[in-house]
Amino acid sequence: MLTAIVGINWGDEGKGRMVDLLSEDYDVICRYQGGNNAGHTVINQKGKFILNLLPSGILRDEAVNVMGGGMVIDIEHLCGEIDTLTGRGIAITPENLKISEKAFISMPYHKAQDIMEEDRLADKKYGSTRRGIAPSYGDKYLKKGVRMSDLLEMDTLEEKLTGLVEWKNLVLGGYGADPIQVSDMLDWLRKYGERLTPFIADTFEYLSDSAAQGKNILLEAQLGALRDIDYGIYPYTTSSQTLASYAFIGAGAPGLKLDRVIGVVKAYSSCVGEGPFTAELFGEEASALREAGGEYGAATGRPRRVGGFDIPASAHGVKLQGADQLALTKLDVLSYLDKIPVCVAYEVDGVLTKSFPTGDRLMRAKPVYEYLEGFKADISKCRRPEDLPEAALKYIRFIESALDCPIKYVSVGPGRDEYLVMD
Ligand code: GDP
Repeated sequence: MLTAIVGINWGDEGKGRMVDLLSEDYDVICRYQGGNNAGHTVINQKGKFILNLLPSGILRDEAVNVMGGGMVIDIEHLCGEIDTLTGRGIAITPENLKISEKAFISMPYHKAQDIMEEDRLADKKYGSTRRGIAPSYGDKYLKKGVRMSDLLEMDTLEEKLTGLVEWKNLVLGGYGADPIQVSDMLDWLRKYGERLTPFIADTFEYLSDSAAQGKNILLEAQLGALRDIDYGIYPYTTSSQTLASYAFIGAGAPGLKLDRVIGVVKAYSSCVGEGPFTAELFGEEASALREAGGEYGAATGRPRRVGGFDIPASAHGVKLQGADQLALTKLDVLSYLDKIPVCVAYEVDGVLTKSFPTGDRLMRAKPVYEYLEGFKADISKCRRPEDLPEAALKYIRFIESALDCPIKYVSVGPGRDEYLVMD
């Protein structure tokens, strides 16, 4: 079985916990895009973990984890993440972690450039996490960079870096920054790169062979459909492809085909950073939802913008992802509400629409809210659909029908066993 688990909305849907839950049935877990700009939070019997770069399967003893060629990797951050996890008793070895030789290295100057550019943009900023992801992808497509495979050829690295640093100083100089030195970059690459060389692998061969042997492979996305660089709310997107169609390209075996796409969607909406977020709630209604859901960024601690469930955006996300089934997360968070707000349509220039607009039309869209009956009960102990209050079941069925995609899993708490499977 070759499965992708992807986000339907703006990210932070709870993909990490779904991967942790479902990865039990998989031999190989793969991250296929992005860098350390997001965080998956996983709570299991080993404790609470925030993973920025490592695939969530790293917390499973038997799983092999792959970091795909579509990723951009800050090797210093990765070494830190590995140290934190090994310090907590998680074994990380070349047997259970394989890093694609094609993955792009996010350098210290990418982070510096990201910060300087966000500062320059001031009130027009995109809301970058300032971790260098956009400059890394930018350079990747300019074909000016260092890949993991270069760490295996340390002898020729200095020569490659000389041209690269010369060019990069032209860019950084535009911001008034001091020039970077080849020797500093070389030292940094040696310091962290040498530790990682045992993990560098040909993930094309590894994934192709694994699929041929009938192994189960799970591909894990970062962020959600609406953040995809091509199909999302550009330019308030991330810099990579978050869609399931890209999963095997980014993972490293473009010829393989997915059997199943599981879309993760949250029982309400949240969004980090700038950009259009039509269903946004404000004031006390928003603060109460943010507190109930603990909606603060896993990577940055930033308070997230929140809103009711957004049907036009989610239905669009389901189509973009080609989801076969859905996991609805954080339903328990809505327990405090007398009435549950749901954004059922948008109004654009005085016209009601259920489809998701693009460009400036999206910027002008206003939410049309309806309220569904609240369930006002602690549902965190429910383990079967019949344990749920009638109003919670109605809410699930309402969303399922509006998105035209079956909801297979419903999570009612952050813990590994706090979920139910729908009939
Ligand atoms: P991801 O990036 O999509 O993995 O999402 P995040 O890790 O940023 O956000 C998910 C957050 O919600 C984490 O803190 C999880 O522990 C928590 N969480 C996940 N599922 C549930 C749930 O069903 N109920 C509650 N209360 N919290 C959940």
